[in-house]
Amino acid sequence: MALERTLTIVKPDAVAACHIGDIIKIFEANHFTLVAARLVRLTKKEAEGFYAVHRGKGFFESLTTFMSSGPALVMVLEGERVIARLRQAMGATNPDQADPGTIRKLYAQNIERNAVHGSDSPETAAFEIGYFFPGVELI
Ligand code: UDP
Ligand code: MG
Repeated sequence: MALERTLTIVKPDAVAACHIGDIIKIFEANHFTLVAARLVRLTKKEAEGFYAVHRGKGFFESLTTFMSSGPALVMVLEGERVIARLRQAMGATNPDQADPGTIRKLYAQNIERNAVHGSDSPETAAFEIGYFFPGVELI
């Protein structure tokens, strides 16, 4: 089974609520390997570029304002089937529908301020990793 890489973000709500350590602890418990990390404060335009697939949706304006509202921790994780396994560890987008023990069930405030991002496919992961990290920064 080939190794995959995925992009994850501890979103501004979870950084502000001091859950960086809690979330990384879950990544480590799942044996996701950290290959890059950077604390960023996105501009509105950078948040809009990252979430370009959602442009035009009702939540886009509020989402990109939230994502540029404070520091966020962007990371690349590596592992077998890490894209799907991270999505499972995150839980559903809406924390009300997230399974017990998932990051969003534990730490999300609502469907927008939902603590964490994870790429949803290999194609998305490639775009999202490249959006934040030049190849030379991936360990
Ligand atoms: N989002 C929102 N309202 C919605 C759907 C999504 O505010 O009705 C936000 C939420 O922060 C979510 C992000 O937009 O994580 C991207 O949405 P997507 O459907 O890709 O969810 P994800 O892949 O993050 O689970
Ligand atoms: Mg998504």
